[in-house]
Amino acid sequence: MTQDVVVLGATGSIGTQTLEVVAKLGVGVIALAARSPSDKFAALAAEHPSARVIVAGGSSEERDDFRRHVGRSVEFGSDAVTDAARISGVTVVNGIVGAAGLRATVAALETGNRVALANKESLVAGGPVVIKAQSEHGGRLIPVDSEHSALFQCLVGEDEKSVSRLILTASGGPFRGRSRESLAEVTPEEALGHPTWDMGRRISVDSATLFNKGLEVIEAHYLFGVDYDRIEVVVHPQSIVHSAVEFVDGSWKAHLGPPDMRIPIQYALTYPDRMESPVAPFALSGLSLGFEEPDRSVFPALDIAFRAGERGGSSPAVLNAADEVAVEAFLQHRLGFLGIADVVSSTLTAVPWRPVDTVDDVLEADREARETAASLIAGAC
Ligand code: MG
Repeated sequence: MTQDVVVLGATGSIGTQTLEVVAKLGVGVIALAARSPSDKFAALAAEHPSARVIVAGGSSEERDDFRRHVGRSVEFGSDAVTDAARISGVTVVNGIVGAAGLRATVAALETGNRVALANKESLVAGGPVVIKAQSEHGGRLIPVDSEHSALFQCLVGEDEKSVSRLILTASGGPFRGRSRESLAEVTPEEALGHPTWDMGRRISVDSATLFNKGLEVIEAHYLFGVDYDRIEVVVHPQSIVHSAVEFVDGSWKAHLGPPDMRIPIQYALTYPDRMESPVAPFALSGLSLGFEEPDRSVFPALDIAFRAGERGGSSPAVLNAADEVAVEAFLQHRLGFLGIADVVSSTLTAVPWRPVDTVDDVLEADREARETAASLIAGAC
């Protein structure tokens, strides 16, 4: 039986697609949380009259307006978001963007809940903390990201000792095949034009630099307990093969399907079962699938991420935070496209490495990296 859901990040791309999926499945919505009080969120609250409504931020005037608009009780503040993740017996869909998603993931796992995880920072920045929370309290992480859902599905029923390599596919982003020199002057508008997936702004830029794939490699390491030298990235521009696993006997399993996030979202809710979905019919006939090596000299992000992953501890948290700050500066025309990888690399060198054992350790590394990245960007202008 598919559990009722708590949807965190309800107004974002994952949140709205989740609500579409749960409506079709007939699953109950227990709580909805969003970062800001917005008209869009008020409309979602009206569509789900019995759901708890939680807003993490907003000024006191914005909150008052929102409460009047919604016409029922609203909880405010980031602690209320974490509390919603602690409602027991639900699936917590974590579509929060940013490090704020980590506390919710840990709280949900500590309650023994299933977490349909779309918040990258939980595993990238807080991998050791999240995996510990999962193993100690009986909760379960089910990935929503298309690549990790693909790997998860390839691994169902398999012994981890029989896994030889994980192969993450990457679309290559809008700048695949370009020279490094030609990327110096690209604009945010060009970087936001992702060829196959429709996503949020940061993840679109991260797909253009390949930092997104680098972050996904780190997520895969923590999620599946596979060492970095057994994780590979291959560019596959059509985004039909979502990832693959090579086994010790030479067999491969790949997960294929249309690039539609409603599929991995639904699987994270219904696992181990499968239910019908409204996804358009799909056929292999007529498709040509291509695979190529990523160009690591044009896209240094990949190697930077592998190195940060191998160092472990605070390094992935620093990588993630520095990238977020650099992407924001790029979107605001304060930093060139190639500067994103430079800022991340310099921040990793500048911020001292530490072990991370708690959520606070992770948030401290995150804060330090943001400060360092921001001052590096300010100094470069
Ligand atoms: Mg992905």
